[in-house]
Amino acid sequence: MNSLLKHIVPEGSRAERLATGFHFTEGPVWNAKGGYLLFSDIPGNRIVKWTPENGISEFRAPSGKSNGLTIDKKGRLIACEHANRRVSRTEEDGKVVTVASHYNGKRLNSPNDVVVKSDGSIYFTDPPYGLNPVFGTFEEQELPFYGVYRLAPDGDHLSLLIDDSVPNGLAFSPDESLLYIADTEMNHIRVFDVKDNGKTTNGRIFAEISGEPLAPDGLKVDSEGNVYVTGKGGIWVFNPDGRRIGIIPIPELPANLCWGDKDWKTLYITARTSVYRIRLNIIGIPV
Ligand code: MG
Repeated sequence: MNSLLKHIVPEGSRAERLATGFHFTEGPVWNAKGGYLLFSDIPGNRIVKWTPENGISEFRAPSGKSNGLTIDKKGRLIACEHANRRVSRTEEDGKVVTVASHYNGKRLNSPNDVVVKSDGSIYFTDPPYGLNPVFGTFEEQELPFYGVYRLAPDGDHLSLLIDDSVPNGLAFSPDESLLYIADTEMNHIRVFDVKDNGKTTNGRIFAEISGEPLAPDGLKVDSEGNVYVTGKGGIWVFNPDGRRIGIIPIPELPANLCWGDKDWKTLYITARTSVYRIRLNIIGIPV
């Protein structure tokens, strides 16, 4: 391991498999209040809960073949649902409500990944990967593009930010002045400036991820601004300038990752049939 990666990964720290036997795991999110992990098993049509004490249990089924999950500023679960072609929110009473399902009167493709900004606005990507029966639904695409959207804090105004790519994972820089977006088809990450009104501008290539189809997918940023993205061999780590620091090895091809535990120093990784974790030296960005 090189010295730059040693700053992040403790000597001898390795990915530990927590659970396996799933179809395709995605959308990990740490629930800090409850002290547990949630993740999607997309073709399994369920959201699974993992606790350090009791391991796995079913959290929700059916899940609308959910993919990306996050938690909003009020502690409510936000889910991208392929089969329902929507972004949903789970209210405090357990009721699941739609927060976004259409743009200009047309159904979204299949919301994939989601992040909530500190002002409560919800950013999500809408590629076509759920428009097939295994991962979502066998229905027609209605919109002629694959968007990145922002739902305003009022919950009413859905803005199309980007429509020239096939967006997948997304994350903000620590100060939220930058938005990183992974493009699986183009094998790269782009970075955009975030304006005061929440819109994005000045998109440019941040890093290339070569050598593996279906990568990059999920993407997260740590408290020092390093960027973590799924790729061949594991989690590729880039410094804020886009220089590759190294790869954290994962035994299966990962699809997504999240920060977790009380100190936010553990990385949880969903990778095909399994879920892994690895302790790091560095603090992530809490949700
Ligand atoms: Mg994804």
